[in-house]
Amino acid sequence: MNRTHSANSATSTIDRRRWLRQTVGFAAMLAGSRLITPKAVAGETGALAGKRAQIAITLDLEMSAQYPTKDQVHWNYEKGNLNEETKRYAVEAARRVKQAGGTLHFFVVGRVFEQENTDWLREIVQTGHPVGNHTYDHVNVKAKTPEDLQFRFRRAPWLVEGRTPHDIVVENIRLTTEAMKNRIGVSPTGFRTPGGFNNGLHDVPEIQQLLLDQGYRWVSSLYPAHQADISNAANWNDVLQDIVAKQQNSQPFVYPSGLIEIPMSPVSDVTAFRAHQWKLEQFLEAIRAAVSWTIDNGAMFDFLAHPSCLYVTDPEFRAIDLICDLVQNSAGQAEFADLERIAERTTESLPK
Ligand SMILES: [Zn+2]
Repeated sequence: MNRTHSANSATSTIDRRRWLRQTVGFAAMLAGSRLITPKAVAGETGALAGKRAQIAITLDLEMSAQYPTKDQVHWNYEKGNLNEETKRYAVEAARRVKQAGGTLHFFVVGRVFEQENTDWLREIVQTGHPVGNHTYDHVNVKAKTPEDLQFRFRRAPWLVEGRTPHDIVVENIRLTTEAMKNRIGVSPTGFRTPGGFNNGLHDVPEIQQLLLDQGYRWVSSLYPAHQADISNAANWNDVLQDIVAKQQNSQPFVYPSGLIEIPMSPVSDVTAFRAHQWKLEQFLEAIRAAVSWTIDNGAMFDFLAHPSCLYVTDPEFRAIDLICDLVQNSAGQAEFADLERIAERTTESLPK
């Protein structure tokens, strides 16, 4: 299938400029409110300092409940049992981003490596796309009880009997690393928590330490709370403005432990489509707004989506093509970056 985005290139630049004018307007308006912290405002100096925006495209390789049809909840118990459509979408998405000059950063749940064939993922890695660790069973790393870790352990508690949630999380991360090495011959590039946390890992220094101990220097765990309810049509502009404000406020930082946080940027596919029944056009408009702000301010955008959701909600890869267009038409103001590269720049920008 040919890429469809090139036909839209001229208009996307114009649309981006229109968005820039609007976002500058409401950023100024919001600057007086509590929504924007000094750190976020400082982010606006990025462009002045000549920094190029870093745009990451990331896909989490797991099945998503309610796809392809609303009644599908069994995926909650077998997140790693990827179907053919999901694998095909991942491969084609990687091909498109590569063709546009970037790399796509995947995060995989370890159970994927129990599947008969993982050649498709090996090929993705061999064409230069990094793959990170997303735990073996898609566990909640902040769980206080075994039942809160994952649906699988509610149905099959004997799998984790007698062990603490912390020990199970440690093993879930370690097993994924082993499975990756075994089946596709590489170690994970970074770690993303299943589920995003509004406060990242601020409240769990022991999890920060656990990741550092396993050799990870960065994590992607923070997904900011933002408005997404569009049941009232009059809300739409408020939702868009809130998404850009939260995106602005969710830039990479370093925890006191030394672990780097690379937040996920709103809006994610499951938040838009599953939680709030957005239309694809609305999803695209929100992405355009957030990426345009990012490019204009030399900041970071970390697109988060799931092929298992997108093959149903965005079968023509319009979101990924849109992001590629915005980078390619940025006149050098933006670059594709995987999260490893973003972590490097976060380290470089630390006071010496
Ligand atoms: Zn996930």
